Amino acid sequence: MRKVYNFSSGPGMLPEEVLLQAQAELLDWHSTGMSIMELGHRGAEFKEVAEQSEADLRELLSIPKNYHVLFLTGGATAQFAMVPLNLMARNKKADYIDTGIWSKKAIDEAKRYGDVNVAATLHIKNDLVTIPRQDHWHLNSNAAYVHYTPNETIEGVEFDWVPKTGDVPLVADMSSNILSKPIDVSQYGIIYAGAQKNMGQSGITVVIVRDDLIHASLPGTPTLYQYKIQAENNSFYNTPPTFSWYIAGLTFAWLKRQGGVKHFAEFNRRKAALLYSFIDSHQEFYRNNVSKECRSLMNVPFYLTTDSLTNAFLDEATEAGLTKLKGHRLSGGVRASIYNAMPEAGVLALIDFMQDFAKRYG
Ligand code: PMP
Repeated sequence: MRKVYNFSSGPGMLPEEVLLQAQAELLDWHSTGMSIMELGHRGAEFKEVAEQSEADLRELLSIPKNYHVLFLTGGATAQFAMVPLNLMARNKKADYIDTGIWSKKAIDEAKRYGDVNVAATLHIKNDLVTIPRQDHWHLNSNAAYVHYTPNETIEGVEFDWVPKTGDVPLVADMSSNILSKPIDVSQYGIIYAGAQKNMGQSGITVVIVRDDLIHASLPGTPTLYQYKIQAENNSFYNTPPTFSWYIAGLTFAWLKRQGGVKHFAEFNRRKAALLYSFIDSHQEFYRNNVSKECRSLMNVPFYLTTDSLTNAFLDEATEAGLTKLKGHRLSGGVRASIYNAMPEAGVLALIDFMQDFAKRYG
């Protein structure tokens, strides 16, 4: 029985059903007498896990046939390098949209390989953090690609629209909102995401890449970092993190059983609306500083108007079974990450606690 609601930004809360299934199968996976951890990745047993997980992910996101699905290591951070290493072979110019700390990390890495044009930056409008609309962006029509971060995990800003980049491939770091809602994969050249928020545990990264983008890479690109090599080898060029892959597979199956991404879109919208509307109606005590149209449905950062109460808030929340609410070290405050696995009861318990805390200290 679980004792707390874990609001961590990642590794995040996993569905209890997934953990229980992993526990039940741990010593004897599918009557093999072995744990999935002990089965070779090239054997028929693990191949079944790999193929089923890819099929489930393809079904969940309606991934078209002309896209490869890769299961790689190195987290989203490795993709900060793999994207320019592979896509800048055509033209060493890329456009990046800077909406926060994770965008900046992607930008800094890409600058090692080519010219980066920061085409737009998060700005402050009426004291609120805002994503500039695309008509204010300075895109370069010759860019090899446009990179953006649809959900910024730290700042709690999320695009509720998809940039239009014409023939220039759009690359998205969906680490913190993949599988939270339906997407049209055909609008993207590459989508990548670390698994540890909405797809399972850390150690594995999903890359969905259109087949015309896997051919070239910059000279000197490590073999393991070439999409072409990874695609040709079905992500088995070296030994993949089999247990992380297996947990991702269990999570995909769980998502399907719950009703797929359409169900989660509605569910996540409802959870986030409960929390934001509580914050907005208690502005004398709690404050979120993101414009309404770009508030994240996954990561809800907020501040106590009396900053000195933040530590007491976090300590008492932990005691009440509401854990990992501390804001990122660069932004401070509080952050509630409410990914797919967070039940509505967890959000309601947080709201109850916030109400009670405000009453006692207000
Ligand atoms: N991008 C985003 C949006 C993230 O939230 C994170 C992790 N919090 C990363 C990239 C980095 O991921 P990893 O640690 O898996 O490399």
